[in-house]
Amino acid sequence: NFGYYPEKGGITLVISTHLNKIVKFNELNQTVTVEAGMMGPAFEEALNNAPELYGVKHKFTCGHFPQSFEYSSVGGWFITLSSGQQSSYYGDAGDLVLGVEMISPSGDIITKEYPATATGPKVLDIIKGSEGIYGIVVELTWKIYRHKPENRQYFGFIFPNWDAAVNASREITQGEFGMPAVFRISDPEETHHGLKLYGIENTIFDKLMTIRGYKSMERCLFLGSADGEKQFTKNIKSKVKRICKKYGAMNLTSFPVKKWEPGRYKDPYLREDIMDYGIVIDTLETGVSWDNLHEVHQQCRAFVKSRPDTICLTHASHFYAQGTNLYFIFIIKENDIKAYTDFQEGLLDTIQKSGGSLSHHHGVGRMISKWMPEHLGENQINVLRALKKHFDPNNIMNPGKQLING
Ligand SMILES: Cc1cc2nc3c(=O)[nH]c(=O)nc-3n(C[C@H](O)[C@H](O)[C@H](O)COP(=O)(O)OP(=O)(O)OC[C@H]3O[C@@H](n4cnc5c(N)ncnc54)[C@H](O)[C@@H]3O)c2cc1C
Repeated sequence: NFGYYPEKGGITLVISTHLNKIVKFNELNQTVTVEAGMMGPAFEEALNNAPELYGVKHKFTCGHFPQSFEYSSVGGWFITLSSGQQSSYYGDAGDLVLGVEMISPSGDIITKEYPATATGPKVLDIIKGSEGIYGIVVELTWKIYRHKPENRQYFGFIFPNWDAAVNASREITQGEFGMPAVFRISDPEETHHGLKLYGIENTIFDKLMTIRGYKSMERCLFLGSADGEKQFTKNIKSKVKRICKKYGAMNLTSFPVKKWEPGRYKDPYLREDIMDYGIVIDTLETGVSWDNLHEVHQQCRAFVKSRPDTICLTHASHFYAQGTNLYFIFIIKENDIKAYTDFQEGLLDTIQKSGGSLSHHHGVGRMISKWMPEHLGENQINVLRALKKHFDPNNIMNPGKQLING
């Protein structure tokens, strides 16, 4: 997101100005080879218009839509292990890449584009998530999906409480009938604000929810959509509906998700302006298994709410049969930077102690590197140090990121 700077002097490379094209379209393999600096919107537009632009038969989609989509690059997605808002169906960025070319101080690496290979350990996997500390990824081979927006099915429900929303979500992800693409459940506090933001407050839905006993600060919102072949998406919708009903949910139709969708990249825009008034909106997020989701959620919320006048909104939006993520948005009044970073560090400590991953999809960067030795343990950190030494013996590639002191 152009937010980086050469902390220890040196050069910042901006590759989005020159390395920004699709260089190979392979419809047979359903892949494209793309230069790493191509930005999200240009990439998706090219794939959606592939028949006219590349003379292929079908329209395609990249399937990857992080909230930062408008201002992030294909190479950035891969190198930070990013997750898009439709990842429950399409997969995370790490799953979507078949091969890369990386230029590093110790030489060029080109990994071949097999759909699968047992020639492990895979160097491609080593490069995933390396955030530029080994080298610069210049080209990637990306898996693409057929673009069929006409088949998309939307759904929305309100659950009586968080337990019901979590249990229904687990049953959906473990039901083996196909995954929704957008799949998002909000905890009671996020639901409280979400109902206002998505224009549900004071509608007929709001009245019905109240009449039927879905209480404010207990009820939980579920937004979803399904992508893919027509019967597949219809089937997902009907199965989701049945499961939600079983857990006491009321159907809100497609109304909330269609309200959410147009603003899905824009919510953070307000953040910078509000900061001028001493109000900080920030986020931390974590990956959790089903069996520790509640523990992590409760401990992190308790930490955030122990600070007076703090809003803490939580949702889960990337689902797997084995678990999900928890995304904490906190809104606090604070003008003192040290007090703010102390608060942020306290929440990271709480995530770590409660058993969550230090990040589900934001990555490590500089902010989290301090927690990495405890998170991974000495033996794993030694492996990462050895790799760093191999690729970048003089520690010139993004020094200070991921690993303290290289
Ligand atoms: C408002 C906002 C919303 C966000 N929403 C999401 C979200 O929904 N999901 C999500 O996963 N993340 C999200 N992010 C985090 C981030 O935008 C993503 O992880 C994104 O994938 C980063 O890509 P980028 O092109 O912006 O990388 P940059 O921010 O430009 O770079 C990130 C790091 O990777 C390195 N790097 C970038 N390109 C390369 C390359 N080609 N080769 C080697 N190193 C490289 C950079 O040096 C830097 O260290 C969000 C961030 C913001 C600010």
